[in-house]
Order: sequence, then structure tokens, then C-alpha cells
Amino acid sequence: MTVHWPFSSSARPFAAVTRAEGAYLHTADGAALLDAAGGAIVANVGHGRVEVADAMREAALSCSYAVPPWLTPERERLLERLTRDWLPPHLTRVHLTCSGSEGVETAMKIALQYHAARGKRGKVAIIGRTPSYHGTTLATAAISGHEARKRGLEQALAPYSQVPAPYPLRQSGADIARDCVDALEREVLRLGADSVAALLAEPIVGASGGALVPPDDYWPQVRALCDRHDMLLLSDDVMTGFGRTGAPFGLDHWGVAADVLVAGKGLAGGYAPITGVFATEAVGETLDAAGMNVMFHTFAAHPAACAAAAAVLDILVQEDLVARAAKVGEQLKARLTEAFAEHPRVAEVRGRGLLLALEIVAERETLTPFPSADGVANRVVAAGIRRGVIFYPGGTGTVRDIVALGPPFTIDAKDVERIVDALVGAVRDVAGS
Ligand code: PLP
Repeated sequence: MTVHWPFSSSARPFAAVTRAEGAYLHTADGAALLDAAGGAIVANVGHGRVEVADAMREAALSCSYAVPPWLTPERERLLERLTRDWLPPHLTRVHLTCSGSEGVETAMKIALQYHAARGKRGKVAIIGRTPSYHGTTLATAAISGHEARKRGLEQALAPYSQVPAPYPLRQSGADIARDCVDALEREVLRLGADSVAALLAEPIVGASGGALVPPDDYWPQVRALCDRHDMLLLSDDVMTGFGRTGAPFGLDHWGVAADVLVAGKGLAGGYAPITGVFATEAVGETLDAAGMNVMFHTFAAHPAACAAAAAVLDILVQEDLVARAAKVGEQLKARLTEAFAEHPRVAEVRGRGLLLALEIVAERETLTPFPSADGVANRVVAAGIRRGVIFYPGGTGTVRDIVALGPPFTIDAKDVERIVDALVGAVRDVAGS
């Protein structure tokens, strides 16, 4: 090869994928790998769905491109499915982007425009949490609580406030939710509520923290705090959206409403790059009244991507796959919890639905991590691949060693056992016991 791909050597892939079907990737060397990572926790309905491919083909033939704000039959179909089956009734405004990063950045911009439109131009701070991951653009990388993905950029990134996301395993104290909400409120008051526009947060922290589920009383208190200080709640559901955690969207587990919700990845299940930014009527009307627009990306709401998304959403509904993600997720979590119950190198199995993770440590008693130079999570993922199952390495550099799982919702009981066996073996290969 005369060119270098991928760009950096640290991102070299393990194998060349020649074909994918169901929950399996087939590689050039003849292996069939069970994809317990769903790619980057994306593939929710599995690979090779003919109805999705057909819908994309028809879209490409019918209208290869139209500027995003114009309606096409595919866009109408997707909007109809979103309204009928997915969006909570309070989210009435829809903007589509390609990547999750673009979607989150759009949500951040909407928060700023919303306050500016109400004459509150001083409200410019958006508070993030740590650990977290919100994307790879300059603003979304800056607000992410993820050191590893800022390497070489630290000197230039805008300084966003970061408050702790609940991390029950490593947080002492009787009331973790209260402590985290207090930390958020202290930060709002330090900045001055007049200067704070929004909180940006993942309802369940994805791969950066390793499927961190907050205590049940956390989100209702955060919602109340946002109302108290006239802040918008921006829910980053890029990873948790469209059923991944066993509910349509992450905050649904707690009956809490976001002002702006961003959901990507699973929207088209990996068949096309598409992310939704969904906002309340109040937010939309405020922008309208001030004559403000939400600018589109050229390739946003691409007809073939909308067709793919509508077909994937149909499959999720027809096959009742969100309920299945909840059920199979519980089974998988129970089997992993059992398998690692006394394991000296596994601090915790956690997560919800089919967004699960293992936190590996050098010493379980003290929760001491392995040195980051040991690259334990990456080595466990490599060992898993040698055993025929793909896992997703998570963590932030400070948070380690996370091995995340996000398989297609369609996996069966045999796949569950294969995943558990491979993970037990891979942890033993790398960390012993
Ligand atoms: N937000 C969360 C929670 C994510 O997990 C990701 C990607 O992993 C993003 C945002 C960024 O999405 P994308 O990689 O599609 O830009």
C-alpha cells in the first residue's frame, strides 16, 4: 500500500472485514466474529437486513440528493415513524445531522440561541460532566470529560466546566446523587446562573465511563436544578438512544424530560450516518420568534439515510426489539455478574439493557487500576477477538480498564453464552485468574 490508512498507526484495525451478517462479522482470514460491540455500539438490528438495503436502493434511485430542509418521501416517512413510535410528545422539533458529534454540537448551539433569543445573551456557559464523551469536533471534544481523546489539543480547547457524573463504584458517601447534584449547583452558582445556558449529559454514561447508571433520584433532582436556574437539559442519547438501554431513550428510565435530546448511532443501526436532534416546541418557537435558524450540514437528512433509519425503526417496532434489549440485556448482565462474582480482577459488571461494561482492576479490594501503560482493556479486546468475540474498549485514560458490550438486540441465548465464555477467557488471558 502506498497510502496510510487509517491515519494513525495506533488505530490499526485487527482485521479486514469482508462481510457481515446478523451479529457476525466475517474477516479476510476466514474467521466469523460475534460482534458483541455492535461496531461502535451502533448495530442494533444486526447486519444484512434486506428491507433496509431495499429502502436505501429505492431512495437513491428516487432522489439521490435534495437540500436538507426540503421534504422528500423518505424524510416524511422517517418523521412520521419518529412521531408515531419514538419521540416523547414534548419533543416536537426535529433537526437531522450525520454524526453524533454534529448533533451534540447543534444541541449546544440551540441552547445558546435559545437564551440569546430571549434576550439572555449572557447565558453562554454549558456545563459538562466527567467522565463523558460527546464527540470529536473542537467544542464537543472540549466539553467531553475524556482526556485520552483530547491528546495534543488540550492547549487549544475552550475551557468548559466539568462536574462529576455519578460513579457509584468509586464514590463514597451516603447520598451519591445528592453529592453530584450539589457539585453541579455549586458550579452553577460559581459561574453565576445568569451565565449558564445548559447542562450537557449522557443519561447513562456510555463507553467513557463504562455504562455508568446513576442512582434513581439523580435525574429528577438535576431536572429540578435546571428549572431553578433557567438552564436547558441537553440529553446526549447518541449511544443510549433508540432502545439500547431497554427503553426508547435514556431518561425514560426515570420519567425525566430533556429540553433537547440527541440520538444517533442506533437510529439507522449502522446502515447510514444519521443523528436526530429533537427539541421542545418552546425551544423551537423561541428561535422562530427571533428569526434564528438551525443551520444544516450539506449531507444531513440524506434521503438514503432517512430511508435506512425509517426501515430500522420499523424493524425495531415490528420485532419488539427494545423489549428484547431489556430482557436479553438482563440475562447477559446476570450471566456476567455470576461469572465474575468473585473475580479478583473485576471490580464490577454494570449497565442497563444491552449497554453493559466490565471494569477491570489490578486489585479488587482497593479498586486499584492497572497502570495505563499496560493497556489492559485493549489487550482484553484483542484476546476476545482471538476467542471469536468482539468487545469495545472504553475508559478515558483516567477511567480504566473498561470493556464495554453493545451487541445487536437480536442476539440469542447461545450468543449470550459465547459472549460470557469469551470474556471470561479473555480476562484470564490478560489479567489472570
Ligand atoms: N456522544 C456519545 C455519548 C457518544 O458515544 C458518541 C460516540 O461514540 C458521540 C457523542 C459522538 O458521535 P459520533 O462519533 O457519531 O460523532
